[in-house]
Amino acid sequence: MVNYSYVLLIGMVHYIIVTGGVISGLGKGITTASIGKILQFYGYNVTAMKIDPYINYDAGTLRPTEHGEVWVTEDGGEIDQDLGNYERFLDKNIPKHHNITTGQVYSAVIEKERKGEYLGKTVQPIPHVTDEIKRRIKRATQEEKVDFVLVEIGGTVGDYENVLFLEATRQMKLEEESILFIHVTYVPALTTLGEQKTKPTQHSVKLLREIGIQPDFIIARSEKPLDDVRKEKIALFCNVHVDDVFSDPDLDNIYAVPLLFEEQGLSKKILKKLNLHGGKSNSSRWRKFVEEIKGFKTPVKIGIVGKYFDIGDFQLFDSYISVIEAVKHAAWFNRLKPVIEWIDSKTFEKKPEKLEMLNKLDGVIVPGGFGLSGIEGKIKAIKYCRENNIPYLGLCLGMQLAVIEYARDVCNLKKANSTEIDKNTPHPVITFIPEQINILHESRYGATMRLGAYPAHLKKGTKVYELYGKKDVVYERHRHRYEVNPEYVDVLEKNGIVFSGVSPDRVLMEFMELPNHRYFVATQAHPEFKSRPMKPAPLFNGLIKAAKSG
Ligand code: GLN
Repeated sequence: MVNYSYVLLIGMVHYIIVTGGVISGLGKGITTASIGKILQFYGYNVTAMKIDPYINYDAGTLRPTEHGEVWVTEDGGEIDQDLGNYERFLDKNIPKHHNITTGQVYSAVIEKERKGEYLGKTVQPIPHVTDEIKRRIKRATQEEKVDFVLVEIGGTVGDYENVLFLEATRQMKLEEESILFIHVTYVPALTTLGEQKTKPTQHSVKLLREIGIQPDFIIARSEKPLDDVRKEKIALFCNVHVDDVFSDPDLDNIYAVPLLFEEQGLSKKILKKLNLHGGKSNSSRWRKFVEEIKGFKTPVKIGIVGKYFDIGDFQLFDSYISVIEAVKHAAWFNRLKPVIEWIDSKTFEKKPEKLEMLNKLDGVIVPGGFGLSGIEGKIKAIKYCRENNIPYLGLCLGMQLAVIEYARDVCNLKKANSTEIDKNTPHPVITFIPEQINILHESRYGATMRLGAYPAHLKKGTKVYELYGKKDVVYERHRHRYEVNPEYVDVLEKNGIVFSGVSPDRVLMEFMELPNHRYFVATQAHPEFKSRPMKPAPLFNGLIKAAKSG
């Protein structure tokens, strides 16, 4: 007999809305990505979106210390870092319009209003703004055939700024979309009591229900696993079945979260609620990867010489999240245990003798960055790595500073600099990209950079060429304004720098290396954005391999 309910559901798109309760910074992005992963285990095609309720049009103008890293998509979006988690977990590129901000929604509505598209109506938050939100959410189903769209709503329930987004998703349910709601909440345990407290969760679900949304599932973040008593309490007060309350305690490895959900049967329950009788979950490859990591005991110590230390240490972690993940992926790929050391470059400016600490490391990274602070300290660290044969990987600013250091010290171009750092330098070895000058002069600060994936032609026989599997052309993502000045390429090359990758017109230097060094490789791009678990970014893999061979 034909199962008609199943037939009807074929080709249908299912939406899973993830909301947050109690506090932000719960790892809702990782939770969302993990829900996506367990659905992928069943063979479903999944994509994910992030709603950021701030008024900024995108994340390009946000300060990293305030909001964490700016993630760059393949199509050149400057986006919230959660899209990075989606890409890493789901192993697919997520386009920039999968990040929706209040700024984008309102600017679209106002533009339409000015064009007279609302036919003389009073334009209002409901329905016009909510319609625009729904249109943007549903757009995710138009670019590829997807079974699931996960929509993470930033912030917490009760914030003024995400009310219209919640309202839009409430309407989607009313409009009979196949949709379900997962509320990710926090269950604190006061040290003095030692008891997990569910009251904040009860309150946040109460707020959600006032808006008209009844969560289908509750995922409780907590330090330790949730006990049965707490589960029952949450179930009763939040109007869900006790089996629909899931425990999401702190784990050492974020990539273990999908398995934790799998063990509690979350995917089966999601599928059941949506009347999907999907086959069997295949999580064996992911499980093997997560299990193996636990056994890697040999450490590989990588120092990250950074500068975003101004607002407390914990922020620093967020500013470099993709670099950290890329180091981890590459270390695990080489069956090593990654150990990351944070080094404030300003230390070397005040106390150059501290440079010796770099000897204790297996490799050093100077990641991307903007502005002046800590620059000379980074240059000192790069010089130390170059002279002492310590494996070095330069990312964007890390390449620019490697060129400056080399120009000063090897090419004898004293006071060589980037015009970003010293406008009057006698040797502007790093300077503006010509086509960017006009944009910057117009002082349009949003999206004035070279953004997104660009091709580079690799030079045969170089380390970079080998690491990319002997590919002639590779695409990496960019986010910068400055470039190696073409006028200095000759002198740099004559003195030993090999530019192992260049833009198709050969004007822009995309990769560089020093042939007689154990590993001294840098790129104008940000290869960390394409690193995925089990598929490390080639240059990070190269760094770890060199570090290990020392
Ligand atoms: N500040 C430099 C530039 O704009 C480097 C940018 C970066 O490291 N992402 O070119």
